[in-house]
Amino acid sequence: MTAAPSIVWFRQDLRLADNPALCRAIAEQAAILPLFILDDESLGERRPGAAQRWWLHHSLASLDQDLRALGSRLILRSGPAERVLQQLVADSGARRLYWNRCYDPESVTRDRAIKSWAKESGLEVETFNALLLMEPWEVKTKEAKSYRVFSPFWRRLREAYSHQSQLQAPRSLSTPEAIASDVLDSWELTPQKPDWAKGFGAVWQPGESGARQRLSDFLDETLSTYKSSRDRPDREATSCLSPHLRFGEVSPRQIWEATQNHLAIKGSDQGAADKFLSEVAWREFSYHLLFNETDLASQPLRPAFAAFPWRQDATGLERWQKGLTGYPIVDAGMRQLWQTGWMHNRVRMLVASFLVKDLLVPWQEGEAWFWDTLVDGDPANNTASWQWVAGCGADAAPYFRIFNPVSQGERFDPEGRYVRNWVPELAELPDRYIHKPWEADPASLAAAGVSLGKSYPERVVDHSVARRQALEAYQQIKKETAA
Ligand code: FAD
Repeated sequence: MTAAPSIVWFRQDLRLADNPALCRAIAEQAAILPLFILDDESLGERRPGAAQRWWLHHSLASLDQDLRALGSRLILRSGPAERVLQQLVADSGARRLYWNRCYDPESVTRDRAIKSWAKESGLEVETFNALLLMEPWEVKTKEAKSYRVFSPFWRRLREAYSHQSQLQAPRSLSTPEAIASDVLDSWELTPQKPDWAKGFGAVWQPGESGARQRLSDFLDETLSTYKSSRDRPDREATSCLSPHLRFGEVSPRQIWEATQNHLAIKGSDQGAADKFLSEVAWREFSYHLLFNETDLASQPLRPAFAAFPWRQDATGLERWQKGLTGYPIVDAGMRQLWQTGWMHNRVRMLVASFLVKDLLVPWQEGEAWFWDTLVDGDPANNTASWQWVAGCGADAAPYFRIFNPVSQGERFDPEGRYVRNWVPELAELPDRYIHKPWEADPASLAAAGVSLGKSYPERVVDHSVARRQALEAYQQIKKETAA
C-alpha cells in the first residue's frame, strides 16, 4: 500500500461491524488510522459524565483489542478535535478523513468547522449515518416539517425506513507503526479514590462483543415477555442495550435486523418485537428533537415553562441524589443508579417526576445528575426524557399527571423485590408496608428492624401535600400564559 493513509475518526460508533466510515476507508485500499479524540473542550458541558467515562475507558480498550486482532490499533489523542486532526494529518500525511455523524449541537458546530478546514486543506472528507435508522432531517410531516409527537413520527419512520443489510466487519487492517498515541490509562477516565464504579464491572461488559452478546441473550431469553413485563423493575425484562447504543457498540440497524431475523427463525411474538422496536424508535425521536429543536438540553420546549416557579432545594436534591427521600421505590432507583450506572425506565420516570413535581426542583438539575451518573447518559434521550417527565417537552405528558410513588411501587413492584434488593434496610418489612413504611405499626417496624428517622429516613415531603403544591404552581403558569 503506497497511497496516503485515511483517517477514520471514531466517535459515537465504537464498533467494527456496520460502520460505514470504516467501510468507506477500506474501499480506498490505503493504510488506515483509526482515531479516537478525547475532546472535552469542544463538548463543554456535554463532555461525557463520570459514569460514561468509566464506560468509555473500557469500550476504547475493547475497540483497541479488536483492532489489534486485525493487525491494527486505536490511536488515542486528546484536545480540541480540529487541532488534533491538523496535527495527525501533519504527522502522517493522511489525505482522507471519514467519520460517522453525531447530532448534538456541540458536535454539529465543531464538525462543520472541521469539514470546512479539511476541504480548504485539500483533504477528501466524507461523513455517514451510523447512529440512527434514519437521519433526523429525513423524517418529515406532509408539510415538510419536523415532528413534535411520537406516534405519527413512528408511523412515518416505519413507512420510510428501508432496511439495508448491515456492513460486515473487516478481516484485516493495516496501520503504520510510527504514529504516536496516548496511553489510555493516562486519560484517567475511571475513578480511583474512591472507586465508586467498582460494582459496574459485575453488571456490564462494554465493547462490541459485549453488545452482541447482550442483544442475542435478550432476543433468546427476554423478547417474548418484553411487552408484558417491560414495566417491571423487579424482573430482568428489558434489553439493557442503552449504554451499548450510547457508545455505538451496536447500531439500531443491527438491532432491527437481528430482531426481524429472530422473528423469522424462531417465530417469536410479533407484538413483542413491535413493542421493542418502537422503544428503539423513541431514541430516534429524541435525536429528531435534539437536532431540530434548539436548546433542548437547557430550554423547555413549551416556552410557558420558562416562568415555572421552581424551587432551590439543596437538601431535597441531595436526599434525592443519595436515595434518602423516604419513598422506597424512589430510593431504590437512585441507589440502583449509583451502584450500577443504570436505572429501569419505569423507575427513571418515577424518580424524575418526584424531583420535578414533589420537590419542584428544576428538571435541569435532575438531567445533570443523570448525565453524570448514567453509563447510558445520552445527549438526546436524557434531555428529551427529562422534558417529557417535567411536562414541558414534546408529546403528551401533561404536567398534572403526577406519579404517586406508593401506588406505582405497589403496581410495578408488587412484592417489593426491587425495593428489598436496593434498600436492604427495609428488606424484612411485610409486603403491605414495603412501599409505605410510615404506615407500618410500631410492632411491624420493630420486627423488621426498621427505625424511621434512624435506619431509614422519614419522608422528605408528604406526597399528597406536594402534589397539591405542584398543581398550584402549574395553575400559576397557566394563568400567566393566558394573561
Ligand atoms: P429497552 O426497553 O430494552 O429498549 C431498547 C432501547 O430503546 C434502549 O436501549 C433505548 O436506546 C431505547 N429506549 C427505550 N426506552 C426509551 C425511551 N423512553 N426514550 C428513548 N429511548 C428509549 N435512555 C438513554 O439511553 N439515555 C439516557 O440518558 C436516558 N435518560 C432518561 C431519563 C429519564 C428521566 C427517563 C424517564 C428516561 C431516560 N432514558 C434514557 C430512556 C430509557 O429509560 C432508557 O433508554 C432505558 O431504560 C434503557 O434500558 P434498556 O436498554 O433495557 O431499554
